[in-house]
Amino acid sequence: MAKRGKVWLVGAGPGDPGLLTMKAARALAQCDTLVYDYLASSAIVNLAPPDCEKIYVGKKAGAHTLKQEEITALIVKLGLEGKRVVRLKGGDVFVFARGGEEAQELREAGVAFEIIPGITSAIAAPAYAGIPVTHRDHNTSFTISTGHEDPTKGYSSLDFTKLANPKATTIFLMAMQNLAGIMAELKKNGVPGDMPVGIVREGTKPTQETLIGTLDTIVAEVERTKFAAPAIVVVGHVVGERENIRWFDNGPLFGQRVLVTRPAAQSDEFAAQLWELGAEPLLAPTIAIGPPNDVEAARKAVERARSYAWIVFTSRNGVDAFFDHLSEMGRDARAFGDAKVAAIGPKTAEALLHHGIRVDLMPAKFINEAVASDLISQSKTDDAILLFRASEARDVLPETLRNGNRRVDDIAAYQTTIVRDATIAEHAANATIVTFASASSVNGFVANVGDVGEAISGKVVACIGPVTAEAARKAGLHVDVVADDYTVDGLVEALERRLTPA
Ligand code: SAH
Repeated sequence: MAKRGKVWLVGAGPGDPGLLTMKAARALAQCDTLVYDYLASSAIVNLAPPDCEKIYVGKKAGAHTLKQEEITALIVKLGLEGKRVVRLKGGDVFVFARGGEEAQELREAGVAFEIIPGITSAIAAPAYAGIPVTHRDHNTSFTISTGHEDPTKGYSSLDFTKLANPKATTIFLMAMQNLAGIMAELKKNGVPGDMPVGIVREGTKPTQETLIGTLDTIVAEVERTKFAAPAIVVVGHVVGERENIRWFDNGPLFGQRVLVTRPAAQSDEFAAQLWELGAEPLLAPTIAIGPPNDVEAARKAVERARSYAWIVFTSRNGVDAFFDHLSEMGRDARAFGDAKVAAIGPKTAEALLHHGIRVDLMPAKFINEAVASDLISQSKTDDAILLFRASEARDVLPETLRNGNRRVDDIAAYQTTIVRDATIAEHAANATIVTFASASSVNGFVANVGDVGEAISGKVVACIGPVTAEAARKAGLHVDVVADDYTVDGLVEALERRLTPA
C-alpha cells in the first residue's frame, strides 16, 4: 500500500521565530517537503530536516511566482504522492491567507490535513509596538479587515458605517495602498479626526518601525517618512497606550545586527537570545569543529578513562567527542570509574550532566590559569590528569600542572578548522556588532574578511573573555566589550550595558 501523505497547514507567526508554536516546530521537524511563500526567517526554515525538500513559491526578485491555484495544486499533488508536507504561511493560516481554500481542496482530493494556527500579525505587531488591541479603558471589541480594496471605488465590500466605531479598535491589513481612502471613509462615518492611528511595519522583527498619528495626520506622515508595507494599521484610543506599554523597540539591542562567528552547532542559544532582545543574529560561523589528527590517541585516552585521577574538559566540544567515542565502543558514563571530573564553564558542566556526570570541580574563573591552580590545590602529587581538549589549546594548563608534579596526558579531542565562505564577509559588512567566543573564531574572521580594519570600522566588537579579546587585539581589531563571566549570557549582558544610553 502506498504511504499515506498528509499536509500540515502551518501558521509561522509574524516574524520573530520565538513566536512559532511548539506544534508548528514539531510538524516542521518531521516533514519531507516544505512549501513556503514568504521570506520566513532561516531560524524557522532550518527546523525542517536537512534532507527535506524546500519549495519557495513566493515573490522574490527574479524568481517565478506561483499563482494560488498552482500552489494549491502543488500541495495536493505532493500529498497524493504520499509526502508529509508542511505548507508554511506568515501569521495565521486563516487570517487573509487563503488557508481555507487550500484545506477545502485537500479535503476534496482526499488528502489528510491538519491546521496549526499561528499568531497573527494583526494582533502581534501592535503588541510588539506596545499597543494592546483591547483595553478596559478604551474598547470592548476589535475588528480585523483587509484594506486591499479601495473604499472610494464603490466596489469595496467593507461596510464603513459599521467599521467606523470610535469605541472599537479597527485593524487593517494590506492597507498602505488605500490608506487615504480608508481614513477618509472612517471620518465620513463618524470617527473624529483626532482619533489616534498607529502603523506598525515589519512587526516583531528587529526591523520593526512604528508611526503614530491621527486620522487627520497619518497620511501626510506616511508620505513624509516614506513608511512602507508590510504594515498593520490600528485605529482607536488603544494606540495611545504605546506611551505606557512600549517595550520591544526601546531595548538597547533592538535593531542591531549581530555577527555570530561561533561554530554553527553552537550558535542556536545565542541566536535565540538575540531575537528576544530585538536584535538580528547574522550567522557566520568562521570555524568548524572536526576530529583531531590523531583520532586513535583520543580513543585510547577515553578507553582508559578510569585510570586517571582527574579528567578535565575545557569545552562542550570535548565532552561531545568523549561521549561519541564511548558510544562507538558501546560503553557509557561508567567508563569514568572513580576519576574526578573538572569542567571549564557552566555549558561544559551542563553537557557532562546531560550524560549523567556531575562535575567535581568548576573553577570560578573560566580560564586555563584559574583551572590550573584549582586543580593543583585539589589533586595530589603524581596524580594522573587527562586534559581532553582542542588540539590547538594553549600550553599554560599542562605546563602549570607538570610544574606542580602532576602527570599530564594532554590529548587532542577535536580540532578547530577555519571555514571559508563568501557569505561571512557579506554578513560582516551588514553587521553592527561583531562577536567572538574564542581566539580561533577571531582567526577565522580575519581569514574571511580581507581588510580587517575596514571590516570592523564603525562596528562594536565584543569578546567573550580576556583571552579572546587579546587575540582580537593582536589581529588588529579594536575591542569594545568584554564579558565579565566569559559566557554567552555574560556577553549579551555586557553588550546591553555598553549600548544602554547613560
Ligand atoms: N496571515 C497573515 C496575514 C497575511 S496578509 C497574518 O495572520 O498575519 C499580509 C499582510 O499581513 C501584510 O500586507 C501586512 O498588512 C500584514 N503583515 C504580515 N506580517 C506583518 C508584520 N510582521 N508586520 C506588520 N504587518 C504584517
